Amino acid sequence: MNERQIIEYIAALAGPDDARLLKGIGDDCAVIQKDGNHVWLLTMDTLIEGVHFDCAFHPPEKLGRKAVSVNVSDIGAMGGKPMFVLLSVGMPKGFDPSWFHDFARGLTDACREYGCLLIGGDTVASPLGLTFTLTVIGETATGRVVYRSGARPGDTIWVSGSLGFANAGLELLRRGIDPGNAAFKLFYEQHLNPRARVELGSRLGASGLVQAMMDLSDGLATDLAHLCKQSGVGAHLLAHDLPGVTALVEAARLTGGDPEQWAIGGGEDYELLFTARPEAHSRLLDLGRQCGLPLTPVGTVVEGEGVTLIRQRPEGGREEIAIAYQGFDHFRNRAGG
Ligand code: ADP
Ligand code: MG
Repeated sequence: MNERQIIEYIAALAGPDDARLLKGIGDDCAVIQKDGNHVWLLTMDTLIEGVHFDCAFHPPEKLGRKAVSVNVSDIGAMGGKPMFVLLSVGMPKGFDPSWFHDFARGLTDACREYGCLLIGGDTVASPLGLTFTLTVIGETATGRVVYRSGARPGDTIWVSGSLGFANAGLELLRRGIDPGNAAFKLFYEQHLNPRARVELGSRLGASGLVQAMMDLSDGLATDLAHLCKQSGVGAHLLAHDLPGVTALVEAARLTGGDPEQWAIGGGEDYELLFTARPEAHSRLLDLGRQCGLPLTPVGTVVEGEGVTLIRQRPEGGREEIAIAYQGFDHFRNRAGG
């Protein structure tokens, strides 16, 4: 079984439904009716040593921040604001207290910066290394929630920021490559301390311009396939429009990686992926500018299913490749998000 099959299996056994549950398994957050006008958004993500981070090169303060960012990212992806955090800590008995002090400072600073409160958790000994699980509870107005399921044929597919930087950073860090190149700093930072696009997500939700949205944690090929499946549509992506790919060329040369593969299959970008009607184009570009983030159209939602990458051949003509679910899967790939 792969990760998707495991989730589908457990989802089929869950239930019964509750009228207050507006969305259960299958989106970035569960959505629960709070009162007449508002919903709670709930999400959980885990970081495991050796899978999500390597203490040899991950500073504890940045890891604490990342633990918060990867979680609040899912709240932003539904258009919400993060409010409360629960933290489960698993550490070996001989853990280094100064490592933990730095981790805890990064985590609590990040909570404050995203405007949320740490309200509880759990602490246990873990014989096999460090594990951190966070639950984040967010909130938004009922009408502002953006689900994965709203994409319609003819929508433009957008992404924020750049793609593939986290994967490039991870590959460089694993090889101990630090040529002091300013461009590489962005890649390191994207792996070690990604920033969640919470303000952007909340403004996109409030704008009413967005049909479907999610965050990019497992790579565009897999995450867009999830969004398409939830919406009952397919997607065409234009390889030449993927933002950031040309910036990855030198890092790919040094590590033997492939910039396009990092952009579509590399996890942990924590950018937002969303669809909108074509008429929203210029208003979305303005909104991105107001948030200080480039927003880039990368393709179109089509009838049918699956995700197709379209590449223009240098000699003319075009190549179409099916790429759905080629991103990160915990039970298939070796490492990542
Ligand atoms: P994301 O990448 O946005 O964090 P995931 O791919 O981890 O989302 O999960 C997709 C959906 O499956 C979410 O609704 C999540 O809550 C649900 N899910 C994941 N693992 C489990 C599990 N073990 N039990 C129940 N639901 C799960
Ligand atoms: Mg998500």
